[in-house]
Amino acid sequence: VSTNLVSGPEHTMSFVTMDCLFCRIVSGEIPATLVRETDTTLAFRDIMPKAVSHILVIPKEHYADVATLAQADAKLASDVLETVAIVAEHEGLVADGFRVIFNTGEYAGQEVSHVHAHVLGGEPLGPMLA
Ligand code: 5GP
Repeated sequence: VSTNLVSGPEHTMSFVTMDCLFCRIVSGEIPATLVRETDTTLAFRDIMPKAVSHILVIPKEHYADVATLAQADAKLASDVLETVAIVAEHEGLVADGFRVIFNTGEYAGQEVSHVHAHVLGGEPLGPMLA
């Protein structure tokens, strides 16, 4: 799938926090280049890619960070990781390897307080951070 708009199904609206940038991407209010959508997750291209492939994978439901998500809803955390794996495969990243980063909190430089996995690959990554 490659589209600039996320359709905004009514059933997702109860989960969204409309002052959250990524909730607004989930609702379709802010466009994003989607690479995969499931019932519970969304994968889209980072607006400022730090590698040849740089995709963000999020749960549609709002959780601030990966630690909060993992403790609140282990199944949803698993859904996010499953989407990471499928996206990496579809992007052709598996053979040469790729990096998954969850920046969590201030010291890690997390800028968007809606849990997101950075999936980075397509070239040697070195010690680069997301
Ligand atoms: P963080 O620093 O929170 O781990 O990462 C946030 C990421 O979101 C950054 O890599 C940044 O480039 C990306 N980002 C910020 N705003 C937007 C946006 O409006 N659309 C998309 N697709 N990515 C964004």
